[in-house]
Amino acid sequence: MANYVFAPPPVAAVPVDGEDTLFPVRRILCVGRNYAAHRREMGGGDDPDPPFFFSKPADAVVPPGHDAPYPTETKNLHHEMELVVALGGGGANVSAPDAAGLIFGYAAGVDLTRRDLQSAARDKGQPWEASKGFDFSAPISAIRRWSGPPPQGWIRLLVNGQVKQDAVVSDMIWDVPAIIAEASKLWRLAPGDLIYTGTPEGVGPLVRGDLVEGEVEGVGSLRFRIT
Ligand code: MN
Repeated sequence: MANYVFAPPPVAAVPVDGEDTLFPVRRILCVGRNYAAHRREMGGGDDPDPPFFFSKPADAVVPPGHDAPYPTETKNLHHEMELVVALGGGGANVSAPDAAGLIFGYAAGVDLTRRDLQSAARDKGQPWEASKGFDFSAPISAIRRWSGPPPQGWIRLLVNGQVKQDAVVSDMIWDVPAIIAEASKLWRLAPGDLIYTGTPEGVGPLVRGDLVEGEVEGVGSLRFRIT
């Protein structure tokens, strides 16, 4: 046992659907601008740049059954409904055909975003951490074990019962194998990594008291309140 100067922090973890087990989270990577219609709503036009990555700390996850506090220092908190890939394997420079072998399962997640801070950072050429990687910024469903082709079905988010995002996962620019392959060029991936794969169109503001419900067809659903 190492002689830590204080107790190490608890392991961030997400339940595995239908089991009495937990998926320990190592890192959270997120893909930006992975759906053409969302690029357009963000003012990106038909910009030809490939999607890109940013990250959140592992302890930003909000497991099922927990609510998300409205974050400080923003007046424009946004929801971004996303398919999440959970890795049970790792490696660097993984080919897209080999990527399937790294996948433990999938979840439904919300990439909560301080949109006003993100816009300001973009205008000033500053990093995105404060707009994306804040506490409680990564609500997630239970993780469903998965084998076979990635989910291709609908992805949906409702606020107070009203549909705000309604799209299909198959509209992604980078599909799941491509995302894993691209990420593995930049980082050595490892078991416990979560990848939020980008949001479709329909992002919008949340206020205190809102009930957020999201679902990815065949994968899972989540439900939390902004408190
Ligand atoms: Mn996102």
